[in-house]
Amino acid sequence: MENERLQRMRKTTRLHLAMEAEETLQRLEEFPERPAAMEYFYALFRRISNGDGLTSLAGEGKVIATMCMQVPQELILAVGAHPLRLCSGANAYDQVGAEFMPAKSCPVIRATLGMLKVNYSLWGDNLASIVIPTTCDQKKKACEQLTNMGYPVYSLEMPAGKDSDLARYYWQESVKQFAHDLEGLAGRRLTAAGLRGAIGKVGRAAALFRQLHRLRGNRPPLILGSDLFLVYNAYFFDDIERWSAAVEALTAELEERRQNGVRVTNRRAPRLLFTGSPPIFPNFKVPVLVELSGGIIVADESCSSTRLLSDAVAYDEAALNDMVPAVADRYLKPCTCPCLTPNGDRLRKLVTMAGELEVDGVVYQAFSGCLPYEMERQQVNEVLSERGIPMLYVETDYSPEDSGQLSTRVEAFIESIKARKRRKVRTK
Ligand code: SF4
Ligand code: SF4
Repeated sequence: MENERLQRMRKTTRLHLAMEAEETLQRLEEFPERPAAMEYFYALFRRISNGDGLTSLAGEGKVIATMCMQVPQELILAVGAHPLRLCSGANAYDQVGAEFMPAKSCPVIRATLGMLKVNYSLWGDNLASIVIPTTCDQKKKACEQLTNMGYPVYSLEMPAGKDSDLARYYWQESVKQFAHDLEGLAGRRLTAAGLRGAIGKVGRAAALFRQLHRLRGNRPPLILGSDLFLVYNAYFFDDIERWSAAVEALTAELEERRQNGVRVTNRRAPRLLFTGSPPIFPNFKVPVLVELSGGIIVADESCSSTRLLSDAVAYDEAALNDMVPAVADRYLKPCTCPCLTPNGDRLRKLVTMAGELEVDGVVYQAFSGCLPYEMERQQVNEVLSERGIPMLYVETDYSPEDSGQLSTRVEAFIESIKARKRRKVRTK
């Protein structure tokens, strides 16, 4: 009986997910002047939003599923497993999660747990573990809920801050233990050669990412910010070499556009920085509204995008006892998640990015139920207003119901930036 109910729920949810994904993709495809190399990413998301979703991507090998962005990918790749970040952006799964999760929980956690509930039997024996770093309270508590559902869960302990030697030491020890435990989970030894190779793969992806980031900031803009969220989201689960090849093709095309003066939007479109709770496909509601209203997202500070790959691993000797701590450092030192306290680094990064990319304003998204981002709002607003940078704060979730009201606020914000720019030109 329970199985029948689950089967029905899976069927309805899949249908809902496919429609939701298609709607987002079609909205992206309606923008003019999209780079041809984006087709790879549209096709990838169409494929995973139909059929068996993420399970079809992993192939035959062991899957180490993860949440958040602090689980060292290099270690997972080094033991021959496929890393797969589960954080979900689907309203279809959010609705499933809402049936058993507290109403005040955030949509990321509700949707992710909803997805895991519906797809339980699909994951099978290939799923060696779901690794959840102890970031925000909701992610921490998800460990218990998933264990109760029958999933193999690994809680990766993170310190609450990153500035002290003790925090760094604690994290390095935690990652060393994880490296050791991974061997058992994946059924393969971690070797120096394997880890060096994996660091090389992630390093190549990070180098391409930095190239893309530079092109993204070009004047005039060469690509939509919403398209780039799709590219970075694909890194959650795609094969890293396939992803790198697709990004290489995209950067080559953008470079060509730059030389030929092809632009994706009006030269005077307000340049915006996006920050806060992560845009995860198919929930691109706010970024798409921003770009439909005439703004262009030229940078972001988010865990589903720019934070993923900005830094590379730096080690002195290619020995495991040197490389593993270096890998650990890459995931803590540059981390600006709001679960860390103090988190002054996030403020510094935002201010630096806003200056370097000459942004006209900041859009701050906070998901209802995401207290860490809601609480950092005030500090971010203060540092930005000191520098005369306007900020739009939007509290939202995955449902389409607030789209009309959001659209009015986003349009008003963009109009106010345009008016401000016109005034500046007149007074020059
Ligand atoms: S911002 Fe939140 S969801 Fe994103 S990695 Fe950090 S703790 Fe996880
Ligand atoms: S940091 Fe916020 S958005 Fe991310 S899982 Fe935690 S509560 Fe949700």
